Amino acid sequence: MPYLSTNPATGEVVAAFDDHTEVEVEALVARAAATFQQYRQTSFSDRAMWMRTAAEILEGELPNIAQVLTEEMGKTFNAAKGEVLKCAMTMRYYAEHAEAMLTEESIPTSASRSGVRYDPIGVVLAVMPWNFPLWQVVRFAAPALMAGNVGLLKHASNVPKAALLLEDAFRRAGFPDGCFTNLFLPARRVAALIADDRIAAVTLTGSEAAGQSVGAAAGHALKKCVLELGGSDPFIVCSSADLDRAVPMAVTGRVQNNGQSCIAAKRFLVVEDRYDEFLQRFSAEMDALVVGDPMDPGTTVGPLVSAQQRDEIAQQVADAVSKGATLNAGGFAPEGPGFFYRPTVLSDVTSDMRAGCEELFGPVAVVERVATLAEAIEVANSTPWGLGASVWATDVAEQETCIRGIEAGMVFVNAIVASTPELPFGGMKRSGYGRELSELGIREFCNVKTIFVA
Ligand code: NAP
Repeated sequence: MPYLSTNPATGEVVAAFDDHTEVEVEALVARAAATFQQYRQTSFSDRAMWMRTAAEILEGELPNIAQVLTEEMGKTFNAAKGEVLKCAMTMRYYAEHAEAMLTEESIPTSASRSGVRYDPIGVVLAVMPWNFPLWQVVRFAAPALMAGNVGLLKHASNVPKAALLLEDAFRRAGFPDGCFTNLFLPARRVAALIADDRIAAVTLTGSEAAGQSVGAAAGHALKKCVLELGGSDPFIVCSSADLDRAVPMAVTGRVQNNGQSCIAAKRFLVVEDRYDEFLQRFSAEMDALVVGDPMDPGTTVGPLVSAQQRDEIAQQVADAVSKGATLNAGGFAPEGPGFFYRPTVLSDVTSDMRAGCEELFGPVAVVERVATLAEAIEVANSTPWGLGASVWATDVAEQETCIRGIEAGMVFVNAIVASTPELPFGGMKRSGYGRELSELGIREFCNVKTIFVA
């Protein structure tokens, strides 16, 4: 299938791009591999200069770039501007900090000099999703390019314009041709590319199915692989929670990016003594959200990315309701064009319902009553995933119990889960392995070279 840009607010196809042919891919991979040999010799200060210029380009063209994101995947224009600015901020962060993160470390031994250095590893293939079409890529590319690697991007087939504009921004910023290359490549051709000797490593952000396929191909080729996959993050409301803060953030945590975020709060586990009040206030706020044209500043929730995604969410809700779940808000797709779905709150959900055992990648929340905090943690840990968790408690002992007890890559207390350039991002269990961002993330795609000089 070619790369299609479809406006989810209208359903219209806006642009189409053919897949690159085998010959074109061969030329682009060869160029990337050749560029790496030159680029790895460049100084941190040159890379930082190009990275800062890329940030300036994104900031300078903010409305135009944000509009592309909104028209291509449906996030609100406000959210799109926020995404672009976060990319620019992260580029500046790695421009400033990468050298210190990768400085040779001395480890005393009997040698006159011993320790580790962090060398770039080469051409890294990034297979990326559509939900944050710039941010997911920059989260990989800013550290990787600063480390001296070069990147090949296989973006999701519904965000070709975002892929092209990022490639263009890096090129105009001064990065040598071949440092960051967009490939219009169908998913079925990814495994063969991973096997190519010129590819050093691969990173994927996406679904479990894609993770299995990319992880298998990387394993077969014995190549380094980082996987950022799905999740069903719990949002735990403890007895000591401040509901004036927790309720609005529960809403934001569920509907940000129109509900299509891996780290969205998806299961709201509320202890008995706060349940009724939380459910009532949360449902009322979800019901009051404005769904509509994502370019309109008054809109809080735009469309889902595709008719297929909207239908999937609608079926998950219908399945739950037909098996006895209670609908507290939403539960339907508004009339008219576009792939909209009303923010929805379900309760009395059981594990035999799809909403009780699948990831809900849309604005649908499941609220569950738990007797104690211990039960909340048990339920939180009962899924196959372990990406993030958001905990709401003013009591320090309750906070600590959650921090220690929850099986997830990230636990945020009195805040919703978010990514930030300073902190590692990633999950455990079926949410994937490896980390992005921070010192840990930038080192994932480095050769940790041990040095011993007798
Ligand atoms: P997806 O279908 O897995 O697509 C993600 C990327 O993988 C796309 O570029 C896609 O290409 C490619 N792909 C799909 N199947 C592949 C295969 N068998 N081999 C190689 N590449 C393949 O993911 P999605 O459904 O669009 O995205 C939503 C999922 O991603 C959710 O589960 C969400 O939680 C997860 N996600 C995780 C994170 C995180 O950081 N942990 C962040 C965002 C999203 P095509 O478009 O050409 O199919």
